[in-house]
This record gives sequence, C-alpha cells and structure tokens, in this order.
Amino acid sequence: MKKIIIAIDGYSACGKSTTAKIVASKLGYAYIDTGAMYRATTLYFHQHYVNITDPKAIHKALENINITFIYNPKANRNETYLNGLNVEDEIRKMYISEQVSEVSAIKEVRKYMVALQQKMGKKKGLVMDGRDIGTAVFPSAELKIFMQADMHVRAFRRQQELLEKKQVVGIEEIIENITKRDLLDTTREEGPLRKAEDAYVLDTTHMTVDEQVDFVINLSVGKMIESQNSIIIN
Ligand code: C5P
Repeated sequence: MKKIIIAIDGYSACGKSTTAKIVASKLGYAYIDTGAMYRATTLYFHQHYVNITDPKAIHKALENINITFIYNPKANRNETYLNGLNVEDEIRKMYISEQVSEVSAIKEVRKYMVALQQKMGKKKGLVMDGRDIGTAVFPSAELKIFMQADMHVRAFRRQQELLEKKQVVGIEEIIENITKRDLLDTTREEGPLRKAEDAYVLDTTHMTVDEQVDFVINLSVGKMIESQNSIIIN
C-alpha cells in the first residue's frame, strides 16, 4: 500500500499526540510531535537567556540547537532530546507551556522548524501533529485532521496527564494557559493555527481515545487506497 502523510492539527490539549501516536503505531508509521520541537527550543532559549527581540541572538541559538527523538522501549514512547540530553519530562512542565507560544511565534524559529519537519517527511509514512502541519509544513498531505474539543474537557484531560507525571496544577491555571496559547497560536502572523480547507474536523469532546483513533485510521485507509489507485491510473 502506498505510504501517505497524515497531518493532525488543532487546539492545545485536544488529544492530538495521544491519537497521533497510536495511529502511527497501528500503521507502522513514524510519529513526529512538532510541539515537542517548539518546547525543546523554548527550553534552550530559557536556559541560555536568549533575547527573543534580537534576531542575531535567535539565529545563533537556532544554530546550536539539535533536536532528536529516541525510542525508549521501557516507556514505549519516543523521547525528545535536546543536544544529546533527554528533556522529555522537562519540556512538559508548566513554565515551558507558559513561554512556548511566544517563542513559536518568532518568524526565524518557524522557518527553521518547518524546514526540519519537511525533511523528516520526505519518505512519507508519517503522522505529524502540531498547529500548521496541514497548512504550512505539508499542505499537500494526503490526509488532514483538525482536532477540537470543549475547553473544560481539554483542561481536565491535561490536568490528569500532568498528575500522572506528579505535577499538581489547578484547573483554572490550565484553562488560562490553554486559552492564552490558543489565542497566540491562532493570531500570529507566521503559520497561525487554522483549519486547512480540506481537513476533516474531529471533535473529541465526547469521544474515547479508541474512537478518535478509529476515525483517523478509517480515513487513512481510504486515502491510501485513493493514492494507490492514482498511481495505477497515472
Ligand atoms: O502540541 P503542544 O501543545 O506541545 O505545542 C506547544 C506549543 O508549540 C503550541 O502551543 C504552539 O505555540 C507551538 N506549536 C506550533 N506549531 C506546531 C506545534 C506546536 O506553533 N506545529
């Protein structure tokens, strides 16, 4: 079967990465969490006191950032490495969530990340999630999904996720963070979050993870068959 690119975009904490991870594993595809790339960049900027109003400092910082994903068989997940150090847990902390949308709105940062992400998708057979995958990174992805959900459901899910990592954060703080990030992500000039015209909307408010995965898998199979047939016809 011909391999395709599956682009999953949407608001913060709608279940994008949970869904994308399982879909990738079911299809035997690679999974790239682009949010982790922006989070790792934010961590680097934070640790090195990068002045985000100084283009030269940003450029220099980007040159010194190397982000990789390494599979951890014990945890059964890909983990994010920043310059050789495992930062998977650090980048999920609230202080990074509070700064990441400002860093990811920087034009130079987006240009750099989008180019990296496009390289990663050269071979297809990929599920990538983020905010601009179907619009800017892979505008011709065979399948585009746009995820959304009720704010309270999103905040509750994020709170549970943080609790599992032993981070206790109040629901109000989470709602405030998600609301602020949504606003910054949808209103920035470069690569704003918006639904691609040809994206399928997946509202996860009343859905289980299994149902979300089935929704994407069913569409994927259809798109793979379509791509296969178009090779035969051409
Ligand atoms: O997906 P996650 O919530 O981890 O993303 C963190 C932040 O990274 C988002 O709020 C957004 O500001 C930024 N981001 C982005 N473009 C992407 C992925 C994430 O701007 N493709």
